[in-house]
Amino acid sequence: MPLHQPQTAQRYLVLVLLLLLGSGFLATSLVSYYASLASIRSSIVDTELPLTSDNVYSEIQKDLVRPILISSMMSRDTFVRDWVLSGENDVDQVTRYLAEVQAHYGAFTSFFISEKTHRYYQAKGLLKSVREDEPRDVWYFRVRDMAKPYEINVDVDMANQDRLTFFINYKVTDYNGNFIGATGVGLTVDAVVKLIDTYQQRYDRAVYFVDTEGKIVLTGATGGPMGAKVGQALKDVPGLDELDSKLPKPQSGTFTYQEHGRGHFLNVRYIPELNWYLFVDKHENNALAAVRKTLYLNLLICVVITALVLFLVRLVLRRYQARISALATTDTLTKLPNRRGFDILANQALQEAQREQKPLATLMIDLDNFKTLNDTHGHLAGDDVLRGFAANLRGSLRQADIMCRWGGEEFIVLLKDTAPAAAQLIAEKIRLLAEQSRYPVGELVLQVNTSIGLTELAEGDTLHSLLARADRALYRAKQSGRNRVCVEPAHVG
Ligand code: GH3
Ligand code: MG
Ligand code: MG
Repeated sequence: MPLHQPQTAQRYLVLVLLLLLGSGFLATSLVSYYASLASIRSSIVDTELPLTSDNVYSEIQKDLVRPILISSMMSRDTFVRDWVLSGENDVDQVTRYLAEVQAHYGAFTSFFISEKTHRYYQAKGLLKSVREDEPRDVWYFRVRDMAKPYEINVDVDMANQDRLTFFINYKVTDYNGNFIGATGVGLTVDAVVKLIDTYQQRYDRAVYFVDTEGKIVLTGATGGPMGAKVGQALKDVPGLDELDSKLPKPQSGTFTYQEHGRGHFLNVRYIPELNWYLFVDKHENNALAAVRKTLYLNLLICVVITALVLFLVRLVLRRYQARISALATTDTLTKLPNRRGFDILANQALQEAQREQKPLATLMIDLDNFKTLNDTHGHLAGDDVLRGFAANLRGSLRQADIMCRWGGEEFIVLLKDTAPAAAQLIAEKIRLLAEQSRYPVGELVLQVNTSIGLTELAEGDTLHSLLARADRALYRAKQSGRNRVCVEPAHVG
């Protein structure tokens, strides 16, 4: 029982350590993980996405400012106005003018539409006539009726294989302010698309434009987010549909949303020149993968260190436990097992002998007149003699035999698998050895005789009954003159 208690205490200690280390490591790992998450999220939301948005926006502005200026000049050009007012006679003249503007200012296209004739002129000559019932010409009638002097429209360019083009559409008036047509230049969106592609690839984010009705109007060359195409409404794109409900109408700001369990960060900015919204969208998986990897690595290190610490603690505890139990069962003077140690070993030997029906001889040894030796030569000399006798006793027995210092100057020996006759010979050998041994103590050489009580294990014996019989044998040895071996037969007990 006392041997089990330390084991339970050990397990308890190991469990407490495991809990402490585990929860400590887990807490620090999780705290640093969430701190990193928060800082990455805030750097994405507060810095990265707005920066991309700023860059794309300023690039667009840069690309648009010059064409707006050129178109403004064209709308005020007296040649154009005079040519229209004088009846649009020489088409070559206006064609030359438009070709000059286009070549000199590096525009992609340049145009003039006359209100009087509805003719559409461009750098290569007369293109066509605009009609109110033609969907592609709707823009012209919108420009005619609008209050502001110009608009920026993104449309396909009929004069250039229907390429997506930014048109700056300026109203042209006569000298009295009457509307006489529309003019301006167009530039391809290719540059902006290229820019979008660069940002998308280099920084792993989606960049696209959405109009005020929530329809995607411009994306990179490979399309929009989640495979969205130009012309699709946000609410029709799987993954963005949820976003659409969050944004009843596009609005500027920062948003987060989920798509198939993936978190998205989204920066939306209104571009007044285009009347569009610029969307910069980054999903967190890639951004956070590195942090997640660090967390897993941290946890792995924690598990390894915890396991190592627990292993070492168990090892040290076991060693100490072994040392302590060895100390508790050993006699310090003779280094033989003490009574406690003997009890464990003797009970095992008893059971073994009874189970295997083997003899077990028991010797109870007492030093003769030891009190006199002590009184004559001192207690320390007595100790030396006890040590010397114990060493001799150990040397004369087999490894398997069990011996102990029973107390004072009394010793017990259990001889395993030893029949009575052989046991008697061994007992006599021990007695003779003691008689002949000399123990040098200082200047003196001391000697001590022994009396030995011998008995054999009998059926039904307990350790107590066995020792009691050996004690009776010893008593008889003392009574009959000491320095002898007396046997107590089993049946008498
Ligand atoms: P007997 O022959 O009848 O055994 O006589 P005895 O003197 O040996 O018996 P007794 O029991 O009267 O005395 C035992 C003595 O052993 C008394 C005690 O002081 C001594 N003794 C017991 N333990 C130790 C010890 O550790 N060291 C020393 N030096 N003496 C011890
Ligand atoms: Mg004695
Ligand atoms: Mg005694």
